[in-house]
Amino acid sequence: MARESAPACSPASAPASGRRAAEAGREARDPAGAGRAAAGFASRSDAGGKGRVCDCLVLGAGASGLAFALRLCELGRSCIVLDHAREPGRKLSLAGGGRANFTSAQLAEAAYLCRTPAFVPPVLDAFSAMGMVRLVEELGLPWEKRPGGKYFLKTEAGALVRALLSRIRQTGLAEIQLERSFGPGDVEVTARGARVRTREGGRFEARHLAVALGSPACPASGATGLGYALAQRLGHAVLAPEAALAPLLLPEGSPLLGLQGISLPARLDVEGVDGKRHSFTDDLLFTHQGISGPCVLKASLFWKRGTALALNLLPGLDASDLLGDESAGRGTPRSLLARHLPQKLCDALLPGELAKRRAAEIKKSVRREILERFTKFTFVPRGIAGLRQAEVCRGGVDCAEVEPLAFFSRLNPRVSFVGEVLDVTGLLGGFNLHWAFASGWLAAEALARSLAS
Ligand SMILES: Cc1cc2nc3c(=O)[nH]c(=O)nc-3n(C[C@H](O)[C@H](O)[C@H](O)COP(=O)(O)OP(=O)(O)OC[C@H]3O[C@@H](n4cnc5c(N)ncnc54)[C@H](O)[C@@H]3O)c2cc1C
Repeated sequence: MARESAPACSPASAPASGRRAAEAGREARDPAGAGRAAAGFASRSDAGGKGRVCDCLVLGAGASGLAFALRLCELGRSCIVLDHAREPGRKLSLAGGGRANFTSAQLAEAAYLCRTPAFVPPVLDAFSAMGMVRLVEELGLPWEKRPGGKYFLKTEAGALVRALLSRIRQTGLAEIQLERSFGPGDVEVTARGARVRTREGGRFEARHLAVALGSPACPASGATGLGYALAQRLGHAVLAPEAALAPLLLPEGSPLLGLQGISLPARLDVEGVDGKRHSFTDDLLFTHQGISGPCVLKASLFWKRGTALALNLLPGLDASDLLGDESAGRGTPRSLLARHLPQKLCDALLPGELAKRRAAEIKKSVRREILERFTKFTFVPRGIAGLRQAEVCRGGVDCAEVEPLAFFSRLNPRVSFVGEVLDVTGLLGGFNLHWAFASGWLAAEALARSLAS
């Protein structure tokens, strides 16, 4: 990723300097200030008045919206960011258990689910994992690489939000307006630009609109489905949004119910909504109603409702002769399996009448069947836990209607879509924050180029 220092502002986007620039960068939390003209380029309720219309309205002050705003301002363009939350970047502050797993050394197309396959690879080429690491470094934040190639902050994730805000402020070209409510009907896009009317009485207009409203996953973070509703109002197709990176619910009567609290490494094979088979080996946690943990969350991204998953509770172990080799001695299936698995789990899956017989006395074919209950346990989940427990939503704005790499709407070039609102969903492990930053960053560069031409 080539990073440039902020160029001198062009006359069309020259920032207000000095005190006014500082005002422009300050987050406006005071509802009384809504709609107030600020810093020359900013919001105005006096359409046609003296204030110059700013370059872009950014809807959403989350990961992608802040990355977009920073890059746009670095390139000398002005923006106003609107968000209904009291503080920006709430979901980003919660990410990675509060340490934000912000990218991955395993960055690859295969880590993403997107119904337009050609959409993702050029973005990953243009904004690499190392590019993301450099951005974090340039923001002055310490990071660490954890097993599996996962990059985490060494400081709390809120520091990333604060660093982004501080850099945005330094440009003097952005205004961040919090606690601003608006619905799809409050946003108007014409051939000349975009206008947003907020319920607090503010009116904002700009030459361009960037939709960075995320998905409704994790409503406690302030997430809503407004991005989808707005996209539809603007004529875009939205591909069936569904909770993902979430626990799976076990079917009624499953022998695996009642094992809550047990955690172990496992492998899940899943038939994907993309028509491919996926396999994940990682930790699995039994819960009251189902299964969770990284292994399950990853599988949930691809799982197609109504299809069976195959669970291997002995991954990495050649289990073929576990019950029949010489070391089995006088052991029973129950005692032999309990060398590798919690006793309670063994008891849940072992057929009672065979569990306590000497393994050596059980027919080979029956021994194989017993083992398969532990290595190929198939079941059809009752469903996926809801949005409250989900980290992301799969589905979203159809990427076939969005310009690859530039992120302009193909239906209306005055609009861009960035971040999770798009039909691009990554696996657990830093892929979603990477996408949010990469799409926001590259979309801002594309807009700056287009405004200059
Ligand atoms: C608990 C949790 C942990 C996660 N951990 C990680 C992780 O470690 N690594 C990783 O890669 N991914 C992680 N993710 C996923 C990642 O955080 C998201 O994919 C990413 O934040 C999406 O960025 P975004 O900018 O598209 O949306 P968001 O960051 O959600 O930003 C959207 C913004 O729009 C605003 N908004 C929404 N609705 C409205 C409305 N009606 N009016 C006005 N404003 C609105 C919101 O307030 C928000 O500021 C995690 C998700 C969760 C829920």
